[in-house]
Amino acid sequence: MSVLLVLEEGGGKIKRASWEALAAAHRLAPAQEVTAVVIGAETEALAAEAAAKPVGKVVRVEHPLLNTYTADGFSIALHQLLQNQNRTKSVVFPHTYQVRDYVPALACRMGQVLIGDVTSIEDGPIFTRQLLQGRLNGSYRHSGNGPCFVSVQAGAFRADSNIAAPEMQGNPQPAPIELFTPTLEPAQIRTQPGEPFRESAQTVDLGSAQRIVSVGRGIKSAENLPLVEALAAALGAELAASRPICDNGWLPMERQVGSSGQTVAPKLYLAVGISGAIQHLVGMKGSQCIVAINKDPDAPIFEVADYGIVGDLFEVVPALTEAVKAARS
Ligand SMILES: Cc1cc2nc3c(=O)[nH]c(=O)nc-3n(C[C@H](O)[C@H](O)[C@H](O)COP(=O)(O)OP(=O)(O)OC[C@H]3O[C@@H](n4cnc5c(N)ncnc54)[C@H](O)[C@@H]3O)c2cc1C
Repeated sequence: MSVLLVLEEGGGKIKRASWEALAAAHRLAPAQEVTAVVIGAETEALAAEAAAKPVGKVVRVEHPLLNTYTADGFSIALHQLLQNQNRTKSVVFPHTYQVRDYVPALACRMGQVLIGDVTSIEDGPIFTRQLLQGRLNGSYRHSGNGPCFVSVQAGAFRADSNIAAPEMQGNPQPAPIELFTPTLEPAQIRTQPGEPFRESAQTVDLGSAQRIVSVGRGIKSAENLPLVEALAAALGAELAASRPICDNGWLPMERQVGSSGQTVAPKLYLAVGISGAIQHLVGMKGSQCIVAINKDPDAPIFEVADYGIVGDLFEVVPALTEAVKAARS
């Protein structure tokens, strides 16, 4: 029984999140049993990129009506492919905006559900995903007939672990590529695609910062930001933020840390008023020392923190800033 891995394209290349999904696919089957799927109107270059990876085969799902992404086009085309490949046990996707849009409909066409946002896969297979903003982990097992649809959280699986796939060592040949042409009619595409979501630009290189002070919604309003700016200045740290801060326009998008922002690994990551949602954690959990300030002792950020301060940031941050200044003078 094989695994189908549906790769996502961005800017003419396969997105990194797709290679993380490949690492997840390898948890479900040996590389030779993983079929990578590229989808679009012209997929030759994407297929060649995929064929160089540790997969058994690449399928190009190609049709002029797949030129731009639509939920109808993608779900109909992949449904036809799956009907054609009835030995497929699992279908794996990166958990992107696009996947969230069309894969539930695709799964539904096959009488299945999507196990979305998976953070780990254990033998069984048992899929883990977070619930209630990371306060609980849920374990899921697929049962019944039909393929199991799974999407994996950005940052949860290491894309570079594919290089070490032992089953593909000694097989330097690119994987074979097949063409699949779905039957699609213009009337079946009911939506007109708009501008795709643009992830945050990366002109501030938080990735090479040694110290980061990161601020979350606990700061309450933009007027209070000087409080954390003063702490960052005292520590000689870069200022970063969780997504709501950037969505509100309080700090530029390029300072966002997380699955749709930057991935950072500083020596010190100081999280101020950040709850620790999985989308934030995947962007900073590789930091060497994590310090969290939060008034909620049960905040999920404390699970990854090396040091936790349970308290009101409006009291703790000024005191910390003064202590740092005093220690450095
Ligand atoms: C597809 C997708 C992608 C996403 N990408 C990202 C991403 O890249 N980065 C990201 O960060 N998020 C991302 N998110 C959003 C994410 O799910 C969370 O909503 C977000 O991280 C929450 O931000 P927060 O921790 O600042 O806010 P909240 O979850 O509201 O947490 C605020 C925290 O502040 C604490 N607090 C409140 N007042 C005080 C006080 N006075 N003193 C101390 N503590 C206080 C509270 O206890 C709480 O824990 C994404 C979501 C989706 C669906």
